Amino acid sequence: MDPLEHASIPALTYLALSTEPTWGGALALIIGAVFPDLDAFTREHRSYLHSLLFALPVFLLAYISGNPYALLFSIGWLSHLFLDFFTGVIPPVYSLSRRGWGIEITARIGLRGFGIGLRIVENYPDPRHDYELNIGGSIALGLITLAALFIRLH
Ligand SMILES: [Zn+2]
Repeated sequence: MDPLEHASIPALTYLALSTEPTWGGALALIIGAVFPDLDAFTREHRSYLHSLLFALPVFLLAYISGNPYALLFSIGWLSHLFLDFFTGVIPPVYSLSRRGWGIEITARIGLRGFGIGLRIVENYPDPRHDYELNIGGSIALGLITLAALFIRLH
């Protein structure tokens, strides 16, 4: 999943669910939702910042602090891990173990009918490499999100 999708999905959810959304809240959430992919600049993508060992304590501290921006940042971070769980693997206890898990869901639609496949994926983080992403759909999603932010937070 690319950064535009990671930013847009929680931002749209925030706009839909929050009774009083703010630009500051949306920005804290979006930054939290995209920053875990800074792992891509380390030795392995989906490593430290994709681990619950780091994300959950930050969420608990943010919750205890009562700071809404810290809480939105940490919710954005957890949304990133949730979304990556469905598009690959996350290593939940990295750096104690590099092993990661995810769910792969496939749909088959054709003349012979419809089917859905589900399987647990187990893998290790990717070593650092260059990425080539098809981001046309993500650009459209990002533009829709921007429009929703400006309409809802004018
Ligand atoms: Zn990620």
